[in-house]
Amino acid sequence: MVNEEQFTEFSKLLQELSSIGFIILDRRMNVIFWNRFMELHSHIKSEEILSRKLTSFFPDVNEAWLNKKIRSTLVLNNQAVTSWEHRPYLLKLPSTQYSIDDVDFMYQNCSYFPVKDSDNSTIAVGIAIYDVTEIAVSQKLLENVTEQALDLQEISTHDHLTGLFNRKFFLDQLVQDASRCRRLNWGLGIAMIDADHFKSINDTYGHQTGDDVLKELAERLQATLRTFDSLCRYGGEEFALILPNTTEQQTRQVCERLRECVDKAPIISAGREIPVTVSIGISFLSRNKSLEEIISEADAALYLAKHNGRNRVEQHQAE
Ligand code: GH3
Ligand code: MG
Ligand code: MG
Repeated sequence: MVNEEQFTEFSKLLQELSSIGFIILDRRMNVIFWNRFMELHSHIKSEEILSRKLTSFFPDVNEAWLNKKIRSTLVLNNQAVTSWEHRPYLLKLPSTQYSIDDVDFMYQNCSYFPVKDSDNSTIAVGIAIYDVTEIAVSQKLLENVTEQALDLQEISTHDHLTGLFNRKFFLDQLVQDASRCRRLNWGLGIAMIDADHFKSINDTYGHQTGDDVLKELAERLQATLRTFDSLCRYGGEEFALILPNTTEQQTRQVCERLRECVDKAPIISAGREIPVTVSIGISFLSRNKSLEEIISEADAALYLAKHNGRNRVEQHQAE
């Protein structure tokens, strides 16, 4: 409990606090205390605002929300806080970060606490307002930088049209998967998948429809695979696939399933049914072969699949 003299001293102290805003509101939201910080940042003098309703000076305050906050502090008689992350500010005050153009208000953390009279009954609510603009701005900048880095990472590893991984990702991922599979003595299959007679699809239906067909083809293939298989757009109408921890027999089964999922139903684009098939060449990791050799073996097997009539799976035959 404080006596009159102590209260005067205390309010002088609060008045002089220059780094924290401090206000006291009665239960009808009239201002009964307004410190120097508030005067400086709001350009409203204490004598102008005292005994006046806070919202008549700050019309954009969410009155219903603040009223609830004040009532709960009065009734529950305990302290509460709000963070700039949930509510950027309580009172719109100008930004203190003049160097940043797109921040035109002060971000605020606020504490609400009961103010008691000499009988220990709560008569008003004190609100401390902390200027956290610098922290908020740095955090937002950091979030933007992180987002941009993630976007760049996405662009550098993904194909724009289909959203699949790109050729660069395929080559990097193959190095990683092959080294892991070699270490753990697991099999690894790779497949080159090429759309058949795609040129004539473009010639017949137009390049835009050709693009739509490639997107749908990518979706169908992807939907047939496990999450740790990497399907990539290798270039044009050709896709490359890595199947880690997969035996030769399983690789053949997976690729047959991929071929079937394309062949079984035409792709629909702009109301037209477009029959599409793919040819697939497969090869396998082995101790004595380089990754370049494995890729060219899959290419050779794809060539064989084309040569043998298309819409089929062929595997590299050891000589
Ligand atoms: P094959 O069965 O021998 O593979 O015949 P193909 O017509 O598919 O092969 P070819 O290499 O002669 O032609 C590939 C075609 O794929 C030509 C090219 O314009 C088309 N293509 C490549 N990339 C894209 C693309 O991003 N969008 C569209 N619409 N077409 C593409
Ligand atoms: Mg083709
Ligand atoms: Mg091709």
